Amino acid sequence: MTVDPNPGPDDLAGRLARVRAAVEEAADAAGRRAAELTLIAVTKFHGAPLLRDLAALGVADFGESRHQEAREKAAELADLDSTWHFIGQLQSKKARQVAEYASVIHSVDRASLADLLASDERQSTGESIGCFVQVNLTPDPERGGVSPEGAEALAEHLAPLPGLRLLGVMAVAPNEGDPRAAFARLRSISEAVRTSFPRASAISAGMSNDFAAAIAEGATHLRIGSAITGNRPDRR
Ligand SMILES: *Cc1c(COP(=O)(O)O)cnc(C)c1O
Repeated sequence: MTVDPNPGPDDLAGRLARVRAAVEEAADAAGRRAAELTLIAVTKFHGAPLLRDLAALGVADFGESRHQEAREKAAELADLDSTWHFIGQLQSKKARQVAEYASVIHSVDRASLADLLASDERQSTGESIGCFVQVNLTPDPERGGVSPEGAEALAEHLAPLPGLRLLGVMAVAPNEGDPRAAFARLRSISEAVRTSFPRASAISAGMSNDFAAAIAEGATHLRIGSAITGNRPDRR
């Protein structure tokens, strides 16, 4: 007989509760407070009703990776007052449209994209979009992100732009190898960025399968999808 390592009902509320408990446990183990972590529910490919259910369960932050889909959900759920995080690779021609609904963009990976996201008008109304410099921790240039060597230069480019606020660095762990080692590397990149920008102390890292390792290495923004939502509908 096998023992279920995750007892409790396999519904949305049950999965969310288990993720929250596991986040708390990982924070305790790292000597950190779970309250200082932002849990972003990644809801790509899921329809608006699921997001509404999550909001009713207290989820305030949603992560989306495809512009069209994100824009539709943000419009449909405008009454919820949720915070929208754009986490996917962002084409230059979509940049301005994403800036209309996203409060935070985790995937700024080139200076030209930062330039397109900047806005004097937003600055003049006292608003800003939070930005993470995405770092590519793999040797594959097709994966999103600036090279680790380029992260500081991109941070320096972005930080003074109007209407943008540099929050910190973001990465996805490579498919191969120990995620903890990858997140340790991200943490050292974060420390380098912080020598120039002490307030850019956020680290966006950790997905369903590796969030405990990310928390151990200082992650502040967790992007967790399938562990909360269940399997994504097949719409790739
Ligand atoms: C889909 C996605 C996630 C969430 O992945 P899960 O494995 O479902 O938790 C996190 N970050 C990015 C950039 C993603 O595209």
